[in-house]
Amino acid sequence: MFRKINEMIDRHRIFLITSHERLDGDALGSELALFHMLRGLGKEVTVYNQDRTPENFLFLAGSEGIVRELPPLERFEVAFILDCSELKRIGKESARVGLIPNLVNIDHHVSNGGFCDVRLIDSEASSTGELIFRLVRDMGLALTGAMATCLYTAILTDTGGFRYGNTRRDALMAAAELVDGGAVPQWISENVYEADPPARIRLLAAVLPTLTFDEGGRVGSLAVTQEALADAGALSEHIEGFVDLPRSIRGVVISILYAELSDGGFKLSLRSKGNINVERVARAFGGGGHVNAAGCRVDGELPEVRRRVIEAIRASASES
Ligand code: 5GP
Ligand code: MN
Repeated sequence: MFRKINEMIDRHRIFLITSHERLDGDALGSELALFHMLRGLGKEVTVYNQDRTPENFLFLAGSEGIVRELPPLERFEVAFILDCSELKRIGKESARVGLIPNLVNIDHHVSNGGFCDVRLIDSEASSTGELIFRLVRDMGLALTGAMATCLYTAILTDTGGFRYGNTRRDALMAAAELVDGGAVPQWISENVYEADPPARIRLLAAVLPTLTFDEGGRVGSLAVTQEALADAGALSEHIEGFVDLPRSIRGVVISILYAELSDGGFKLSLRSKGNINVERVARAFGGGGHVNAAGCRVDGELPEVRRRVIEAIRASASES
């Protein structure tokens, strides 16, 4: 698959790069590393995202040039769709991006059904960043400091700071090479994890009392309402990482964050320990992700949403 992507890059000049709604470090780090790579090859490149870049990723070089308005499509010869298991994960412009003549998908989600002809998909990869790293290596290109910083950020964030089950040898070896290439781990971690506004901690204070246990303490959850967000003066990007808190409790094997959306539904983040599969639970609601980290949307009032999710967890457990 590297060969096809290589040809795609050789033969064309004007590229669009995009990723999923609700941006994370892997989406942004992968997009910007690819942006720097293609620019280095003399290509014309636009990075488009539906959502704004969370503040803690604005330190990534190139983030200032990301557009949130899709430019006229006729210009683009190729679209790279990164870290997306389905076209619709791009958000409201997904159908239009789908009209660009050549689509390339680079992704690491188990739930990826292969929606592009040209694709690099490996669900064993820690992150899309690790796949971009392999692509850079395969193409024999030099790794710049900016690329190394973006790719290290991608791997760091998608492995939860090198803690999750996707922290395998390849991820660690890539990280080491990225450090050789100029990525500075402490500086990157300080930017990503230690630069929050006070509003995030005010929000956390309001959210902690919602801690709930189900299934005899095996499922732990937190809920964030629109009201709590508004009272704390926080943004939805500040919720990132809250789902890791119930998971840090001994005996909790599934952690859930219920985040109320502005239209009343709930965005769920699910995390699990060991071989417990939350991708299957998310899939039951039309979402997806990875075995240990998945997400979906569920509509309804919170008590009803909780009941349905716990039911789906029971059903999933009895299948395995
Ligand atoms: P998070 O909880 O951090 O938003 O997402 C965890 C994982 O699940 C990520 O890999 C993300 O791409 C995936 N994910 C989250 N929400 C959805 C969704 O609605 N649909 C699909 N297919 N994947 C999702
Ligand atoms: Mn990812």
